[in-house]
Amino acid sequence: MRKTVVAGNWKMNKDLNESITLVSEIKNLLDENNNVKAIVCPPFTSLETVSALLKDTNIGLGAQNMCSEDSGAFTGAISASMIKSVGCQYVILGHSERRTIFGETDELINSKIKKALENSLIPIFCIGETLEERESGEMKSVIERQVKKGLNEISADQLSQMIVAYEPVWAIGTGKTASPEQAQEVHAFIRGLLAEMYSSEFAQNVTIQYGGSVKPDNAKELLGQPDIDGALVGGACLKAESFAGIVKPA
Ligand code: PEP
Repeated sequence: MRKTVVAGNWKMNKDLNESITLVSEIKNLLDENNNVKAIVCPPFTSLETVSALLKDTNIGLGAQNMCSEDSGAFTGAISASMIKSVGCQYVILGHSERRTIFGETDELINSKIKKALENSLIPIFCIGETLEERESGEMKSVIERQVKKGLNEISADQLSQMIVAYEPVWAIGTGKTASPEQAQEVHAFIRGLLAEMYSSEFAQNVTIQYGGSVKPDNAKELLGQPDIDGALVGGACLKAESFAGIVKPA
């Protein structure tokens, strides 16, 4: 049985004081007995403090990125062991903003995934097509390339520790959500790819989140689709009520 996982990607929002306020409000709103795994992904500068505030709760903590190297002369970079040492259990990798703004390639994302797993971090591996790719009929080939290259040399055992997030780039931060049917079609396609690469029994157990303008008023329908196992949320996770409003119906 797949677990429903809702993760909030705070992106470059919330300084330390604002992070304390937001996470405290989220804690107050979320019910500890919830069947859904909620995860918050604040900026690096807030991780340690948020980690302390989440102690004794079921809410998970993730970073938004990490370096593929262990240590050394990589000015400005943060390693897997660093985020682990401040309490992260998860790390978002391959987010479309990292791919497009920071030029991250499938190969780099694959090395980051390997490094995260080596450090016992759970990667939230993001994939998704742009509007041009969808409109020119390349959506499936783009997703297939991202999945195959991103998971190159990743064993079934390792994949079973990961979360995959399908995020159509045209739906991120735009207010345009994929319809539940559009999202379900791609989730089923991704699960089919995983079945070909691993096995169908195995693919049935992989958690695949949807991301792209998820809000309390569309979450229920999206998450009600058979192959959608949760959400990766950007804008709507910056207010405790809307984040909780997605986690609760999920
Ligand atoms: C995201 O950045 O992962 C995301 C899904 O953002 P939003 O919910 O704002 O579209």
